[in-house]
Amino acid sequence: MLSLTEKDKDSINKETGKYSVRGFFDDMEFIERKFGKEKLEELKKELERNNINVFDYKKTKEVPISSYLTFLVLSRKFFNLSDEEMREMGRDSAKASFIIKFASRFLISIKTICNNSQEAWERYHKNAGSFKVAQIDEENKKIVTEIHNFKGHPDYCLHLEGFFEQLIFFVTGKKGRCREESCALKDDSEVHRFVVTWE
Ligand SMILES: [Zn+2]
Repeated sequence: MLSLTEKDKDSINKETGKYSVRGFFDDMEFIERKFGKEKLEELKKELERNNINVFDYKKTKEVPISSYLTFLVLSRKFFNLSDEEMREMGRDSAKASFIIKFASRFLISIKTICNNSQEAWERYHKNAGSFKVAQIDEENKKIVTEIHNFKGHPDYCLHLEGFFEQLIFFVTGKKGRCREESCALKDDSEVHRFVVTWE
């Protein structure tokens, strides 16, 4: 049986906020596309053993963010996902997001999307951190973003890297790269800081 390590639990159970069910199911659809329905059902059984009943979540709009993070960590263990595959899940999540679809259709500028990013963060995360754009440098094709008051889990940091990569692709049409420069879970840092660059 899959389970969280004590270290996983330590950071995950500190989070008391909520996460959008839509985002949760977007990731689950990614898993189904990548590994098939049968494997997803096997994963759901593992999740049930860890007190995550996916069926119940269909009736709600939000789930405890600790459940979402548990799902991410157990999915990673179950499929032995690499760092890049965690990013791939994040990129896929951005593709599925309504806000991002809207942004790409109307070719919103980098400034506009940055101005709306806190609100976009709050659509997915309730009482779970706040989002801040720390630096916009369009000339050097670089944006620095920060997440404050949130610990989460390193697997989610990778997911976010992928999410930001896809987002910058939608806005600029160029391949983006995002790496976490300092992490509130690993370093002496209060925040998760991401550097996003593009070609
Ligand atoms: Zn981090």
